[in-house]
Amino acid sequence: MGERRLAILTSGGDAPGMNAVVRAAVRTALSRGVVPFAVADGFQGLVDGGDRIRPMNWSSVGGILHIGGTVIGTARCTAFRERDGRRLAARNLLEKRIDTLICVGGDGTLTGADALRKEWPTLLSELVSRGEVVPEAAAHHPFLALVGLTGSIDNDMPGTDMTLGTDTALHRITGAVDALTDTAASHQRAFVVEVMGRRCGYLALMSALATGASWVLIPEAPPSDGWEERMCARILDGRKGGRRHSTVLVAEGAVDRSGHPITAERVRGVLEERLGVEARTTVLGHVQRGGAPSAFDRVMGTLLGHAAVEEALAFGPDSVPQLIGLKENRIQRTPLADCVGRARAVAEALEERDYDRALSLRSPGFRETVEAVKTLVRARQRDTSGGTRRFRVALLHAGAPAPGMNTAARAFVRILLDRGHEALGVRNGFEGLLAGTAEELSWMSVHGWVGRGGAELGTSRRIPEGGEWGAVARSVAANRVDGLLVIGGFSGYEATWRLLRARDEQPALNIPVVCLPAAIDNNLPGAELSLGADTALNSIVEAVDKIKQSAVAWRRAFVVEVMGAWCGYLAAAAGLATGAERVYLHEDPLTMARLEKDVRDLFDGFSKGKKRLGLVIRNENAHPVFTTEFLRRLFDAEGKGLFDARQAILGHLQQGGNPTPFDRIHATRLAVRCADFLLEACAKGEASASFMGFEGGRLRFVDFAQFPSMVDREFRRSKSPWWRAWGPVAALLDQPGPSVSG
Ligand code: ADP
Repeated sequence: MGERRLAILTSGGDAPGMNAVVRAAVRTALSRGVVPFAVADGFQGLVDGGDRIRPMNWSSVGGILHIGGTVIGTARCTAFRERDGRRLAARNLLEKRIDTLICVGGDGTLTGADALRKEWPTLLSELVSRGEVVPEAAAHHPFLALVGLTGSIDNDMPGTDMTLGTDTALHRITGAVDALTDTAASHQRAFVVEVMGRRCGYLALMSALATGASWVLIPEAPPSDGWEERMCARILDGRKGGRRHSTVLVAEGAVDRSGHPITAERVRGVLEERLGVEARTTVLGHVQRGGAPSAFDRVMGTLLGHAAVEEALAFGPDSVPQLIGLKENRIQRTPLADCVGRARAVAEALEERDYDRALSLRSPGFRETVEAVKTLVRARQRDTSGGTRRFRVALLHAGAPAPGMNTAARAFVRILLDRGHEALGVRNGFEGLLAGTAEELSWMSVHGWVGRGGAELGTSRRIPEGGEWGAVARSVAANRVDGLLVIGGFSGYEATWRLLRARDEQPALNIPVVCLPAAIDNNLPGAELSLGADTALNSIVEAVDKIKQSAVAWRRAFVVEVMGAWCGYLAAAAGLATGAERVYLHEDPLTMARLEKDVRDLFDGFSKGKKRLGLVIRNENAHPVFTTEFLRRLFDAEGKGLFDARQAILGHLQQGGNPTPFDRIHATRLAVRCADFLLEACAKGEASASFMGFEGGRLRFVDFAQFPSMVDREFRRSKSPWWRAWGPVAALLDQPGPSVSG
């Protein structure tokens, strides 16, 4: 009965990143020789049938990556909740000879889709006996292949670290709260901000971490009685310390221990009554859902859409439908029913007011963040005049500035001070340590750093050499430094490695040292994502969106040069997030033959009218001869008037900007862990040297002894970059497949 056919639908609440899924799924299907269909408006389109289930081609999903929401539409559909509605859906699918379905939505969507799959054989029998479907057609499609993906800004689904749209929603929320903070500080006001999340406090919790909120209220962790007083005391404390604004974040579904809603209005009343301050409420509402998807949601959507098609094509009569998610940056399959069951279990626990159970059902990362937020909210400058041994821990930045450095420094300093220790800030990296200058940092000295780009303490690439380590050792001794945190990139790691080697001659260097990964290049060993990489990637994606827009009126090829030094992460991720035709990395050596083929493909694409825009992303060090300018000239000359070529070297805009929510959250989590680790090492008198890494989804500290074996020192990058696994997906989405039309 001809070729295989597959349909994709988006349902329930819309979520940014859904378009990336649709694009990747359609193109992957085409390249596998499968005919893709898109269903308009979720299950409603299935129930309606006809041209609401329409075939898609390569270009029908062009130019949609940057668009928020879902271009194929979504809806809530009551008919589909009934068996009669699902029978109509089955009939309409069969009419189009489709027996493979990819559904993107929340737990309602996935439950509905699984109901259709389970009933499929009996629905088909009914359709045959009603004469609505011929027996041969039913026999030809004995089962429904189903794959689920989660699109929901709430991040409320197990089986994936993030649901599609959550990262974008965090961008919207932090942008709004940052803006409110400015006005709140000007007027010394308190702001109460309500964010989405009826049953899940993820958005409220993470945005509290990302914006340095004074208090946060979420459904999973209702505050114990007397919270009003504690909250006010905390805010008062902050005011006494010099803070000019306070923000309280409230999740829509926040409740107290008796299950009564804690609304933004209720919090505002408490603040005004008890503190006598002017308080304002802001309900962010649907803006949280909208807008251009973040880089992460585009990359994740693309990877998931691709993986979903592979999963669907491997689905057999006895297969168990899977939810495809992303865990620890890798594709993860989890039985759909388990995920939905676990999501339900949280909802039930909340209904039964068993909050401990609800919290225990959330991911370890969620629980860890609840603790980190509690710690930071509670944290306060302690009186350090007591008798217990206090440590003086220094911190410095090394390497190029990376957004998130300030966030990490702030959290680190405050945790140290809260635990009764002293924090020393060293200006301008190892340069400052060489000069012997370190200053004590107070609680308020890091005020406002949570979302500030750049590096307030200054940074440098300087790596002390030879005899200079003697000066560093003297400086460490003179400042009575007990431990050192290096927040930085490759030069920080390299310097720490050398510090380790200098210890034999300089015993004063026998103090614990930890490196916290911060480099937009994302080239560091151990860490899958270093601070700043997400911000840089988002800056690139925003810039490329504009560049693409500028070119829509022409036939034009753009060569965009991005940073990364010798590490292709930014280029590869930007390639996926912007839908670039080609990505040139130092890791994949460019050759004449490859360039020739790429020029030919580009020319073909334009001449057959398949494209109006060509986009090539080139890492700054991809090739010493095939430079950005060279490529532009080559494309321009070979365009032979059919298309022209332009270049854009994005430059330092990639290092600047305020850190994204991810970079802020990541920075805070890492800094809290580093503080704990260093204080423990100080207490034990361990002169360890470690850098942060991830293993099995957990943060861990890697001994510097492993540094040389984990890095390519010539090209200053990690030897085993996890993101290289993206290569095949990018390659596939690059080439218009065999069944392209128009
Ligand atoms: P979400 O997918 O975001 O959780 P909803 O709960 O509104 O959003 O579900 C989306 C759609 O999925 C509903 O409009 C309905 O068509 C379908 N659906 C939800 N729950 C069921 C169910 N138990 N049985 C069948 N269909 C369902």
